[in-house]
Amino acid sequence: MGSLKILGVRIDKVDFEGAVSRVLSFLETDGAKSVFTPNSEIIYRAKDDEEFKNVLNSSELNTADGIGVVYASRILKSPVACRVAGYDLACRLLPVMNERKLKLFLFGGKEGVALKAKEEILKKYPDIDICGVENGYFTDDTHIINHINEKEPHFVFVCLGAPKQENWIHKNKERLNAKVLMGIGGSLDVFAGTAKRAPEFFIKLNIEWLYRLIKNPSRIGRMMALPKFGIAVIKSKRGNKNA
Ligand code: UDP
Repeated sequence: MGSLKILGVRIDKVDFEGAVSRVLSFLETDGAKSVFTPNSEIIYRAKDDEEFKNVLNSSELNTADGIGVVYASRILKSPVACRVAGYDLACRLLPVMNERKLKLFLFGGKEGVALKAKEEILKKYPDIDICGVENGYFTDDTHIINHINEKEPHFVFVCLGAPKQENWIHKNKERLNAKVLMGIGGSLDVFAGTAKRAPEFFIKLNIEWLYRLIKNPSRIGRMMALPKFGIAVIKSKRGNKNA
């Protein structure tokens, strides 16, 4: 599995098949492994934040989430195969979990969201053992860590938004009795039906970001990171050439 660095953040060059098989290989090893899905906003945030950059680079798998990251890899002449968004990766893992009757823990979202996500997932995949749910708003996470450790899940979907989820996973990785910790943002909202994924049309044209902006105009501030990200990538390429 090759990788490239975008503004100092490692992105692994995997397509969906590669990502799924790599994640499944983590089940055969000791200790917890982390999976992050950096998008351009997250990478741009890490640009001047060494600590967060180190957190992102500490994972066992980082997939390219978002067309901005795919374009950046092309600009840097080290293209990734495709976009592997966190929600889509989770969707491809669910049938395998169902077939193998694996244990999944859902962590994140507002009160009731993880429970609703559990109900919806079980409608389609009744053999997944969804062994625990916790909401993502807490002051002390001791009970959450204890709950996860008591259940010993194969997978934990950690859906706290970036950078909270990546920092939480990094901080607690060593003390969690789980195999795969996946930081996948707003995915539980989508599974629960409290947020909608963009229609196919937007996804195909790579303008899912536009759909999310129309639905939630207050995201404009966050989205301004995208052009800044593009400029920083181009500058970093020039910088490397001159180096
Ligand atoms: N969230 C949470 N705890 C927090 C902050 C956010 O559980 O302290 C949840 C929030 O309810 C939402 C998700 O994290 O379900 C973040 O969603 P967002 O769309 O911002 O993430 P993205 O997918 O864009 O990374």
